[in-house]
Amino acid sequence: MAKRKTKLQRCFDDFNDKYFGNRLHDIELSWAATPKVDGKVVSAYSHCQEDLYKAHRIVLSKRLRYRFWMWQLVLLHEMVHLDLDFKGVEEPDFHGPLFNAEMLRLAKAGALNNLW
Ligand SMILES: [Zn+2]
Repeated sequence: MAKRKTKLQRCFDDFNDKYFGNRLHDIELSWAATPKVDGKVVSAYSHCQEDLYKAHRIVLSKRLRYRFWMWQLVLLHEMVHLDLDFKGVEEPDFHGPLFNAEMLRLAKAGALNNLW
């Protein structure tokens, strides 16, 4: 029997379907007490690629867990990074014009309603 999806997985699948055309796949999703990027952020997206191994991962801080609007907003944020990566878009500044354009696209599509 298939394992029941977590709330995080169901939310990711829903966003992937509604706002990313199901382009995002084979993503590891998890919660962690202390996800770190440069030692200070509350969420992390990591991408690792070698010749025969490729993994995409979104780790959300457990501190966000009980504030659904906050972790959903962070999840969408990390999904935008993934989507740009899947498209092969270089993000030299990570949260620059390309990233902002994608967030605006999501806002116009209603993805951020009740989340910001
Ligand atoms: Zn970011």
